[in-house]
Amino acid sequence: MIELEHVVKNFHADKNNSIHAVNDVSLKINDGEIFGIIGFSGAGKSTLVRCINLLERPDSGSVKIDGVEMMNLKPRELYKARTKIGMIFQQFNLMPSRTVLQNVAYPLKNMTKEEIRAKVRELLALVDIPDKENAYPSELSGGQKQRVAIARALANDPKILLCDEATSALDPQTTGAILQLLKDLNKKLGITIVVITHEMEVVKNICRKAAVMHQGKIIETGDVFTIFSDPQHQITKNFVRTTSNLSKIETLINDNSPMVKLKPGELMARLVYIHADVSEPLISYASRAFDVEINIILADVEIVAGAMVGGTVVIFNGPRENINRAIEYYKSKDIRVEVIEDAGA
Ligand code: ADP
Repeated sequence: MIELEHVVKNFHADKNNSIHAVNDVSLKINDGEIFGIIGFSGAGKSTLVRCINLLERPDSGSVKIDGVEMMNLKPRELYKARTKIGMIFQQFNLMPSRTVLQNVAYPLKNMTKEEIRAKVRELLALVDIPDKENAYPSELSGGQKQRVAIARALANDPKILLCDEATSALDPQTTGAILQLLKDLNKKLGITIVVITHEMEVVKNICRKAAVMHQGKIIETGDVFTIFSDPQHQITKNFVRTTSNLSKIETLINDNSPMVKLKPGELMARLVYIHADVSEPLISYASRAFDVEINIILADVEIVAGAMVGGTVVIFNGPRENINRAIEYYKSKDIRVEVIEDAGA
C-alpha cells in the first residue's frame, strides 16, 4: 500500500517566492489498484508522484510503502526500495544510442549475459514487441517506444508502476493500446499502477479510483464512477464536462439551433444518472405513466468503471402538472434533473 500523509513540497523560485507544488496531500493507494491523479498542467501531479519514490524529497510529511517510511531510509536502502517502483514518462526517456535490448537491460544488475537476454526477451514478449530487441529507438513508433519504456520499468519486477503522462504524446488509437497493455499488466502481474494525466479520458478508461489535484492540493477523491457521475468541485465538473457530449447543448442554444427552440409550455432539462444501477427504460416509462412527450435531444451514456454514466438532454411537452410529476419521478430514481430552459413559466 502507498500511504502519503500531509506531504508538502515547495520549490523556491527566488529568495522571496516559493511555489507550493504539493501542499499538504494525504492519500492512500491500495495494492493492485489502478489509481488516477488528474489535474491541469502545473497542478502538482508530477511532483506528487515523484514524492512516492523520493525522486523529490518532501519538505515534510510521511511517505510509506507497505508500511515502510521512505523518508527514513538510508541511501542504499532507498536505492533498493526504488528498484521496486518502476516509472514511465511522456517522452519515454530511452537512450537513443542503445538498442531496445540494451535499454531494457539497463536496470538489470548482478545477472549473467544469458540471464539478462532471457529476462529482456520475456519482458519484450510481455509488452508485445518480441521482434524489436535489436532496433534502435529512432526506428520505433511512439507506441513501441513506450512499450520499451514499460518493459524497462518492469525489469526488476516492481510492485508499483508510476506513469507520468505516459500517453500524452501518443495519438488516440495508440493511447488506447497502451492503456489496454497497462490494464493487462495490472491483471497479470497484480502490479499497482499510479497514472497521472491531464486527460479525463485516460482516467475513465483504466482507473477505478482517482484523485483530482489543483494548486498543490487534492480537491476531490473517490471511485471514478462517483467522480464522473456526481462531481463536487467546480474544477472536477469542468474536467467531466470535457468528456461529455451533453455539454454540446450549450453550443446548440448559443447557435440558436431550431432543435432546441422551445414551444410555449415546454421545458428542456438535463437528466444525469448519479447511481450505478440505472437500467430501467426511464424515458418511455415516464412518458407513458405521466402522459407527457419526452423528446431526446442529446444522449451520452457510457460505461465507466463497469457502470453506466451520463444522461440525456430532453424536452418535456405536456400539461405542466404532468411534467412536474415526471420530474419528481426522476428525482425519486436518483436522477439529477437540471432545468436548462423553461418556456412554461
Ligand atoms: P503537473 O505535473 O501537475 O503539471 P508539476 O508537479 O510539474 O505539475 O508542477 C507543480 C508546480 O511546481 C508548477 O508551478 C511548477 O512550475 C513547479 N515546479 C515543478 N518542478 C519544479 C522545480 N524543479 N523547480 C521549480 N519549480 C518547479
